[in-house]
Amino acid sequence: MKNHSLYIFDIDGTLCNLDETDLLPGRKERLNELVESGAKIAIATNQGGVGFGLYRKSKGKPFDEFPTEQEVLDRLAGILHNIGHQVPFKAAFRYYMKWEKAWSPVPADREDEPFWSPDYRKPKPGMLLDHLAEHAVSPANAIYIGDRPEDEGAAQAAGCDFMWAWDFFGDERPENC
Ligand SMILES: [Mg+2]
Repeated sequence: MKNHSLYIFDIDGTLCNLDETDLLPGRKERLNELVESGAKIAIATNQGGVGFGLYRKSKGKPFDEFPTEQEVLDRLAGILHNIGHQVPFKAAFRYYMKWEKAWSPVPADREDEPFWSPDYRKPKPGMLLDHLAEHAVSPANAIYIGDRPEDEGAAQAAGCDFMWAWDFFGDERPENC
């Protein structure tokens, strides 16, 4: 595999199972290898459950099953602790409701925060582009690793390489992929 300067990872289904902080098998070792080789690693994760919960709350519907922003940040902190390296991360809290053709609400005065930007929600490339800019890495020297079509779409839109999580980590390919 080509060596990249920057490896950006999805979380759910890539580094961890949904809602968990334990890393999937082989992840810690592989990330260690990358860091020891001098590569940079970063995280970009859609966490639209936060925005969808806000939307449900705004409609007077039950929203308890959806995480708050703080719960997502706490979980991310747990994942970073398990990785054991300083890893810059970006999360997309907005959710796009296809049936309403509308974006979920944003907490008051937070419109300008990147984590609440529609441009951050994959398959839009906002999170990847900001990681590239902050690391001063060109798209050709970066790769995004994920488990969903929107991950591949975000990588294509950012102009960087893409690899499926199971290929990158040497897992068995999931049945429906
Ligand atoms: Mg995923």
